[in-house]
Amino acid sequence: MSRIAYVNGRYLPRSEAKVSIEDRGYQFADGVYEVCEVREGRLIDERRHMARLERSLRELRIERPMSPAALAIVLRETVRRNRVRDGIVYVQITRGVARRDFPFPVGTKSSLVVTARSNDLARLEQMAAAGIGVVTVPDIRWRRVDIKSVALLPNVLAKQSARDQGAREAWLVDAQGRVTEGASSNAWIVSRDGKLITRQLGHDILPGITRSVVLDVIRAQGLAFEERAFTVDEAYAAREAFVTSASQIVMPVVRIDGRPVGNGAPGLIAAALRRDYHGHAESD
Ligand code: PMP
Repeated sequence: MSRIAYVNGRYLPRSEAKVSIEDRGYQFADGVYEVCEVREGRLIDERRHMARLERSLRELRIERPMSPAALAIVLRETVRRNRVRDGIVYVQITRGVARRDFPFPVGTKSSLVVTARSNDLARLEQMAAAGIGVVTVPDIRWRRVDIKSVALLPNVLAKQSARDQGAREAWLVDAQGRVTEGASSNAWIVSRDGKLITRQLGHDILPGITRSVVLDVIRAQGLAFEERAFTVDEAYAAREAFVTSASQIVMPVVRIDGRPVGNGAPGLIAAALRRDYHGHAESD
């Protein structure tokens, strides 16, 4: 089946879906994006993802290309046309096409691209059952990574560094030796005394939607948690570790820089959060 992409008003086969070389997303990474999980054909946590998209646009003063209601229809239509039952829908909005010049162009319409693809659920479940390895790398990103911008070069380099070392994710570390987040996920540990720890929100991490729902699950279950920065040494000594993101939900981490976390197997708390997640997430 040929894959379909929505590009500026049209649904096109992937091979015909194109944007201009003068698109500011291409020229300056002047754009934002969202990734929303699709499960059994439904969008998960759409409201929170769309609220974060609004915020990213507002922070960068990029105009929304269409109303929220129209965008909701495009998301569903793209999922439908690609026959995605379980997977993700991807939305990208850039400041549009204009002659290359740094200041905002005047009278330019934002560009909108929406794509959708299926996930191999069996493979994801296998990965969750085995757990993944992470490596730590310095966080060299800009100081507004709370905005979900398409400028992801440091994340690309971090992920490749993980790949080169046989790991799936990189944990980014600030100048004080504390983990900010993963290259494409939020980072969590469970301390020796059973407390869940993830970094507090701020300009130095993305406010993950999965992170926020996991916090709801944790509160509902009355588990002890702290939103604070943790060091790499604390992570090495942790009982459990995991990452959260819309495409992986809760993914256990079993190795950090080659050292086993806890007994080297996925932790019980991570497994329970993964199991209970969709009972708390919103489904359309
Ligand atoms: N941090 C970064 C840097 C990310 O790229 C992502 C995934 N988009 C996340 C955290 C997790 O966010 P979410 O749970 O909303 O997918």
